[in-house]
Amino acid sequence: WEKDEGGAKEERIVVSVRMRPLNAQEMEKSDPSDWDCINDTTVVFKNSLPERSVYPTAYTFDRAFGCDCNTRRVYDEGAKEVALSVISGINASIFAYGQTSSGKTYTMAGVTEYTMEDVYDHIKKHEEREFVLRFSAMEIYNEAVRDLLSSDGSPLRLLDDPERGTVVEKLTEETPRDRWHLGELLSTCAAQRQVEETSLNETSSRSHQILRLTIESTARESKGRDGSSALLAAVNFVDLAGSERASQASSAGNRLKEGCHINRSLLTLGTVIRKLSKGRTGHIPYRDSKLTRILQPFLGGNARTAIICTMSPARSHIEQSRNTLLFASCAK
Ligand code: ADP
Ligand code: MG
Repeated sequence: WEKDEGGAKEERIVVSVRMRPLNAQEMEKSDPSDWDCINDTTVVFKNSLPERSVYPTAYTFDRAFGCDCNTRRVYDEGAKEVALSVISGINASIFAYGQTSSGKTYTMAGVTEYTMEDVYDHIKKHEEREFVLRFSAMEIYNEAVRDLLSSDGSPLRLLDDPERGTVVEKLTEETPRDRWHLGELLSTCAAQRQVEETSLNETSSRSHQILRLTIESTARESKGRDGSSALLAAVNFVDLAGSERASQASSAGNRLKEGCHINRSLLTLGTVIRKLSKGRTGHIPYRDSKLTRILQPFLGGNARTAIICTMSPARSHIEQSRNTLLFASCAK
């Protein structure tokens, strides 16, 4: 896998868009469906609106998944290769970006599960190596980091480690016994988020969740080959805060609104990703937010990134859908 900047064949940032079907509420209101995927890579605006000409009507990405695509396909074509690079010792991160209710959590749950299955299948097939897995889970809310595997809700500090970069102090790391144990850990995190989703303060639409699987492997016997073939990397599954938190603040230009809605981590992530996609020259502001500090080793350098942008096809969400498509276009 080539190191050269411009001509690298395998892209480090893979961007896809996933459309969910209209939901019951939208159908009840006869909310028209505006968007279609006309092929594997292109999303188009299919209806005509008076102000239509101001906006592009077709958007092309690495992959476009229509509302009839299941999560298996989204994973296989939009995330698998990036996620499984962790087995070869390459850091990776998979993001779900989109407005609240567009399908981020739904998509990430499936993607995470399929990755875990593939990781365990790989381990089973490679008995010549010894694998150690570690799992951790955290949430960033209002720039405070919380451990999702601990009942202690106090905020965790970020420390700068000269060798490992930014480290989340005291973050719980579980060593799953097997795939079922790992499944239980995932369910614990999902249940935790479910509780937040039903509470009135909308925590989940404002918070970022990071699930991290670290894989360390070594050859059991060197068998005459190079015995120093230890590999260590992690893959991060990032269910981002609703993207309306970024766009409301940036479009309102209103101090008061900013105070309520601005999400520093989401805005900084956007800036970092745009800079990385343009060729990572110059200063990249990783240190401007908790999310980007924590994810720095999984974004730049040799790391691989997949961004799945989720959207609703409904007319009532047209502004947010355009913002999401714009974000996805800039990430390319
Ligand atoms: P978000 O995390 O972006 O706020 P969710 O993932 O919670 O959105 O999705 C909102 C609702 O829509 C959930 O009830 C979810 O099950 C449903 N949903 C999302 N995406 C799809 C899809 N592709 N197919 C069917 N249902 C979906
Ligand atoms: Mg969600």
